[in-house]
Amino acid sequence: MVVKIGINGYGTIGKRIADALTRFQDFIVTGIVKTKPDYGAFIAKSKGFKIYSIRENIDLFKKSNIEIEGSIEDLIEESDLIIDTTPGGLGRSYLHTLYSKYGKSIIFQGGEKHDIVETSFNSICNYEEAFNKKYVRVVSCNTTGLLRIICLIDEEIGVEKVKAVIVRRGADPKEDTRGPINSIVLDPPQIPSHHAIDVKTVLPKLDIETIAFAVPSTLMHVQYLNIFLKEKTSLDRIIEIFSKVKRIQLVNAKETGLDSTSKLIEYARDKGRYRYDIPENIVWLDTMKIDNKELTLVQAIHQESIVIPENIDAVKSITGLERDKWKAIRDTDEKLGLGNLFK
Ligand code: NAD
Repeated sequence: MVVKIGINGYGTIGKRIADALTRFQDFIVTGIVKTKPDYGAFIAKSKGFKIYSIRENIDLFKKSNIEIEGSIEDLIEESDLIIDTTPGGLGRSYLHTLYSKYGKSIIFQGGEKHDIVETSFNSICNYEEAFNKKYVRVVSCNTTGLLRIICLIDEEIGVEKVKAVIVRRGADPKEDTRGPINSIVLDPPQIPSHHAIDVKTVLPKLDIETIAFAVPSTLMHVQYLNIFLKEKTSLDRIIEIFSKVKRIQLVNAKETGLDSTSKLIEYARDKGRYRYDIPENIVWLDTMKIDNKELTLVQAIHQESIVIPENIDAVKSITGLERDKWKAIRDTDEKLGLGNLFK
């Protein structure tokens, strides 16, 4: 079975998903939607992706050197499934004005609200819930980082309650108009922050509280987690659980010197990671501790790439391409080259 996939929105997330899909024999990228014939369109073309646009901007492309295949409507016709990676909130209006007319499956991203989909998705937590669903949402970067850890531990030991402090990057590297540039901002000024609410779209019964601060950095988020376990366990057991999954990577900051997000990113660049992407949760071993039933850890999350494996898994789940969660996850991780960062 081959799934024909169109990508609406070719920015930070869309361009990474497009590249990732080309690593799977079962997927064909039918095309990507760009609104303007700018450098992003040039790159997409040079990679061999067919370009579509919104109707009102097709003439802009015709006047440029960048060939255009047709309108977004044409791309939807050509595709079995659309991955919406437009800026947060636009997916909702596309759903009402366009997607709903075609009856195709749509995967939305974390910038959309949960109420427009049937299932908010995280592979480890609820892979099976997306079977045969039409509208699925892959939760945001911070939520994906939290859920991978929480659900892995919950499957094996049981999680009673979670508290997390999130230090958010202020903007992505290309976002030259966002900030803060000299502040630490309560983001948002409320407890719980929207991250706990987002986690609950996948795990409605979980007792979780989060607070988030936005800081002047573009590289990664850092999360401090307190996980209250249902049973007493050892640190070795937690490390063993994490080591089963390539999506979680453990690193010793003292031994390696990798004690900051900037050094992690420098390391990913030196390792030859494309775009310096780190789709794995990076958990610092030095910060892991167990006190009675309370597990503490600190992890770094690369916001630009963390949700890419989950988008691939969501396609496999919706289309029924793979019914076994762990087979799906392991195949995705292997084809995307996860888990080789510290080897
Ligand atoms: P982005 O701004 O980098 O990319 C969005 C792309 O959509 C841009 O290329 C933009 O030109 C294009 N676009 C704008 N209007 C459009 C329209 N009408 N039709 C089609 N395309 C249009 O945004 P992003 O960071 O890739 O975010 C996309 C989604 O992924 C959002 O829901 C966001 O919340 C979510 N997400 C982002 C991150 C992150 O850190 N960047 C992480 C996880 C999830």
